[in-house]
Amino acid sequence: MPRATARARAPRAVKAPRLATTRMPPEWRRRSLWSALVLLVLALLATLVWLAGRYEASQVQSRLERDAAEAVGEVRSALTRNVQSLQALQFNEPTPQVWMSEAQAFLRVHRELVRIEWRDPAQKITAQAESPFSVPVFDRSGRAHSQADVVQTCAAARRLSGPAYSGSYFVLLAEGLGIEVMELCLPLVTAGRLTGYVVATYSLPEVLNELISRQLTRSQEVSFTEGDGTRLAIRGLARRGDRVFTAQQLLDLSGTTLVLRLDSWQGAPDFFPNVLTALVAAMSLALFFILLLLGRDMRRRLKAERDLAEALAFRKAMEDSLITGLRARDLSGHITYVNPAFCEMVGFSAQELMGHSANAPYWPPELAHEYQKRQAIRLAGTAPPREGFESVFMHKDGTRIPVLIIEAPLINEQGVQTGWMSAFLDMREQRRVEELSRASQDRLQATARLAMVGEMASLLSHELNQPLAAISSYATGSTNLLREGRHTAADMEVAMQRIAQQAERAGKVIKSVHDFVRRRDQAREAVTPQALLDAVMPLVNLQARKLVVQLQLRVAPGLPPVLCDRTMVEQVLLNLARNGMQAMDSPDITRRVLLLDVKRHPDADERQLMFSVSDIGPGIAPDVAQQLFTPFFTTKAEGMGLGLSLCRTVIEQHGGSLRFAPHTPQGTVFSFTLPLA
Ligand code: ADP
Repeated sequence: MPRATARARAPRAVKAPRLATTRMPPEWRRRSLWSALVLLVLALLATLVWLAGRYEASQVQSRLERDAAEAVGEVRSALTRNVQSLQALQFNEPTPQVWMSEAQAFLRVHRELVRIEWRDPAQKITAQAESPFSVPVFDRSGRAHSQADVVQTCAAARRLSGPAYSGSYFVLLAEGLGIEVMELCLPLVTAGRLTGYVVATYSLPEVLNELISRQLTRSQEVSFTEGDGTRLAIRGLARRGDRVFTAQQLLDLSGTTLVLRLDSWQGAPDFFPNVLTALVAAMSLALFFILLLLGRDMRRRLKAERDLAEALAFRKAMEDSLITGLRARDLSGHITYVNPAFCEMVGFSAQELMGHSANAPYWPPELAHEYQKRQAIRLAGTAPPREGFESVFMHKDGTRIPVLIIEAPLINEQGVQTGWMSAFLDMREQRRVEELSRASQDRLQATARLAMVGEMASLLSHELNQPLAAISSYATGSTNLLREGRHTAADMEVAMQRIAQQAERAGKVIKSVHDFVRRRDQAREAVTPQALLDAVMPLVNLQARKLVVQLQLRVAPGLPPVLCDRTMVEQVLLNLARNGMQAMDSPDITRRVLLLDVKRHPDADERQLMFSVSDIGPGIAPDVAQQLFTPFFTTKAEGMGLGLSLCRTVIEQHGGSLRFAPHTPQGTVFSFTLPLA
C-alpha cells in the first residue's frame, strides 16, 4: 500500500456514531412547532401595531377633550365679561341717545352680538342698537316673533336677579339664509327696584368665531349641537380624513345649556401614525426577518446533520462489512481502535482489546518476546512503515493465524502523526488454496509422467519415419548399384556417408524427443536461419524430387541468429515442408511450388525472425482448420496427425507462435516465429 493512500484520519475509537441514532423530532412536529412560532410572532406583531395605534388614538382623544374644555372655558368667561360690559352701559343713568351710541360702540368690538336692546320693565324697547357687521336680524321675521322667548328669559332673569339666557332659535335672514341666535336678558335693578332690562342677542356662529381662540379652530371643527347631534352652528375646517375623533362639553348658562362639540379628523390611511408605531413596526419586521434567517439556518443545520449522519452510517457500514482487519495504535502503542473484522479474526471483543499495549492478548506466547522487541523499535519512531510483512496471531481459542500486515503512520488533520494504522489480512484461506494447488500440481505431474511414455513412443515413431525412410532409400539405391555392377567406390562412399548422417540424425531425434518429452531445458544455441535450412534441405530435396515439387528459398540478407534447440526446429521445418508438398500432391495441381521464406518479424520490434512455408495446394477447409493442432487428427491415409501439434508445442516452448493463413491466390502459409539470440 503506498504511503499516501495509507494515511488515515484519527479514528473515534470503537463507539458507534451517535448521530446516526439520535432521535430527531418527526417532520410534522417540527413543522407545526415552526408554524406555531411564526403565527405567535405574527399575532404579537399585529397586537403591538394595534396597541400602538390605539395609544395614538387615545392621545388624540384626550387632547381633543382638553381642547373642548378649554373652548368652553373661553366662551364662558367671554360671556361673563360681556355681561359686565352690558351692565356698564347703564352706568350713570344714560339717556337713550347716549346709551345707543355707547351700545353701537360696544357692538363694533363685539361681533358675537348682533343686537342690544334696552327695555323698560314692561318689555317696551327704550333704545336699541344693531351690529354694524350684519344685516339687521329681525328685519325679515320681526321682533315680535321672538317676543315670547325674550319675556320668558327676562322672567327667569328677574327670578335669578342676574343674567339669563334663552334657548337658541333660528332666525331667517335674506335669501333662505339664517342664523342661530340666543338671547341674553340682564335685569336692571336700582335700589332694589327693577328699572328695566338689557336684552342682547348672540349669534351662535359668531360666538364660535370670536370667543374661541383661533388655535383651537385651526385644526378641528367646533360646533354647537343639540342633544340629538343636530348642528346649530359650525366653525372650522372641512373634514380631511376618514377617522373622526369627537369631544363634547356642556356649556351651562343660566337658563339654558349648550353642547360644544369638537371634531378632529385624523389622517386615516396612516399605517404608521407616529414614531412609536413606526418603531414597533420596524422592530417587528426585523424580528420577522431574523426569524426567517433563523429558520433558514435551522434548515441548513438539519441538512448538515442529516448528511453527517448519512456519512457516519456509511462509514460504519463500510467498516462493518470490511473483511480486512483494522487496528489503530497511538504513539505509546495503546490500541485506540479495532474494526469488527479484526475482532472476529482474533476472537476478542473490542472492549477486551482497547487500551492494550505490551503483550496484546492475540500474541502467541512463544512469539510475544519477539513481538515486544519489534514494537519497541516501531515506537522508537525510527523504522519506516512496514508494508506487507507476514506474522502470526493467536485466536482466543488458541488457533494460530497467519496474517499479512500492512502498516502506515496515522496522520491527523494538522498533518501530525498521532499513531499507527495497520491493516490485517487473514492468510488462512490463501494458505489452504496454495496447499490445494500444490497437491493438485503434484498429482498432475504424476499423470503427466504416465502420459509421457505414450507420447514419447508416438513422437519417436513419427519423427523417426523420415530418417529411416531416407536410410532405406539410400540402402536400396546402393544395393541396386552393387547388383547391377555399375557402382564406383566414390558413389558407394557418398551413399554410406548419407546413411551414416541419417542414422546420426535419427539418434539426435531420439535424444531431442526424449528431452522434449521430459520437459528438460533443451540445448538452446544461436543458429543462423541459413544453417537451419541447410540442415533440412537434403531431406526436403529428396521428397521434392519424389513429388515433383519446385523448391524456392528466400532468406533475407544479414539475418541474425536465433536461439533454439536446432534439432527440434529442424523437425518443425521438415514437418511443415512435408505437409505443404503432400498438400500439392494431386493430379489437378500441375505447377507445384513450395516457398521457404525467412525474414524479420514485421511487428514485435523486430526482436524475432519469422519463418514461413507457403504452398499452392487446395488450402485448409474450415472444419479441418478447427482441429488442425489436435494430436492424432489427420486426413491422410497413412498420416499420424502428430506433426502440427508437435510443431506448435516446440515453437511455443521457444517463446514463439505458430500460425497459418490462406495463401493468395491459393494454398496455405504456415509461419512461426523464433526469438533472436
Ligand atoms: P499428418 O501430416 O500426419 O496428417 P499433421 O498434424 O502434420 O499430421 O497434419 C494434420 C492435418 O492437417 C493433415 O492431415 C492435413 O489434412 C492438414 N494439413 C497440414 N498441412 C497442410 C497444408 N499445408 N495444406 C493443407 N492441409 C494441411
